Amino acid sequence: MALKDFRPMMERCSNCLGCKWIPFDKIQSQRFGENCPINLYYEFHIYSARGKFQAAQGLLDGEYGYTDALLASTQACTACGACDIACKVCRYNLEPLDFNIALKADAVEKGNILPVQKEMIASLKKEQTMIIGAKKANRSAWAKGLKLKDAMKEGAEVIFFPGCKYSYDKKLQGYARTAAELLINAGVDLGYMGEADMCCASRAYQQGLMADFDARSEANIKAFKKAGVKTIVTPCSDCYYAFKRLYAAKGLEVEVLHVVEYIDKLISEKKLKLKKPVNMTVTYHDPCHLGRLGEPYVAWNGTEKKIMNQVHTWEPRRPRYNGAYGIYDAPRRVLAAIPGLTLVEMERIREYALCCGAGAACEQTYPEVSKFTANERVTEANSTGAEALVTACPWCESNFASAVDENGKKIEVIDIIDLVSRAL
Ligand code: SF4
Ligand code: SF4
Repeated sequence: MALKDFRPMMERCSNCLGCKWIPFDKIQSQRFGENCPINLYYEFHIYSARGKFQAAQGLLDGEYGYTDALLASTQACTACGACDIACKVCRYNLEPLDFNIALKADAVEKGNILPVQKEMIASLKKEQTMIIGAKKANRSAWAKGLKLKDAMKEGAEVIFFPGCKYSYDKKLQGYARTAAELLINAGVDLGYMGEADMCCASRAYQQGLMADFDARSEANIKAFKKAGVKTIVTPCSDCYYAFKRLYAAKGLEVEVLHVVEYIDKLISEKKLKLKKPVNMTVTYHDPCHLGRLGEPYVAWNGTEKKIMNQVHTWEPRRPRYNGAYGIYDAPRRVLAAIPGLTLVEMERIREYALCCGAGAACEQTYPEVSKFTANERVTEANSTGAEALVTACPWCESNFASAVDENGKKIEVIDIIDLVSRAL
């Protein structure tokens, strides 16, 4: 939908400001009660979903163009969806996240692209990754020596899709390898996309770079179909969201599993046994794109109607993505299966978790916002008394690790794949 198509939603927004907070009945303290990273950082109304609903009306009415503040509130938004889920606690007929993405796309269409975004786009076109400086030729380094089928040459029903961060980040590559090895050792007939393995472009979508998202996602869908892929397993929450929601909306019909779901399945089928104690107290961070945005896509072809020209409705009823069916229990079951491990929860969890600050490539476009957000979350993790902060997304992990390094916070950041391998 174009930005103008969101005008009825802009007008329907009731200014309740619920989009700035986790639901009131879930708030345990004022310190950790807010949910929008950019509103927390800038402390100014225009940065919230409600603020942008208001600002966009003036934009559409031609009262002003993209001012610096409006651009920052648009571009720095991590597309975390916290405002969207908070709004849906009481409302069913507003889509703040889709609106945020439409606003980003509108800004891009009008030529508002940051220099670093231009570099990301160029990298995506030339090297098929948005990680600036990474080379396509090195993409498969993580898989060297692994017994993985090349799906494009041999065909493979289950493919392992590492995503750009695990493919190129030297500190994280080993975890992609460990995850693939776990699956192979458990008897999964695993392949990967070989030469056709490339960026999922989720981060292009999250930044409103729609032409780039469309080109890359359509090339990937074509490759998956050609290879006869039936199941995609990924350790990256951004890729998970791309395939499960965005590609599904473009017609890709495959089973999509995050590695943590597959590990959970192997444990429950007794194909994977975690025997070695890991005597540690940890807290778990729910990645936005695995948690509240990890719900399956539901097709909808209805229309928007008004009853008595007043009460707004959708016919038939629209799918209501309120985050409740994201992936929250599988990682917690995996943690519970590790002997000696104790889980203590943060105040903002599951669909109400605070973003890590890395969404929508914020660590490149607005690094100060991204660092602030990672610090906020690490502070919350520290307040639980946990020795380690565990997550299931390479972007969260890397952003938290930087926050811990820069601020000397006393908490270890651990990939859930690493934690599982410590218990083998
Ligand atoms: S966007 Fe939703 S939660 Fe925010 S002010 Fe409007 S109606 Fe309330
Ligand atoms: S998507 Fe996240 S960062 Fe963007 S306005 Fe909503 S809560 Fe704030």
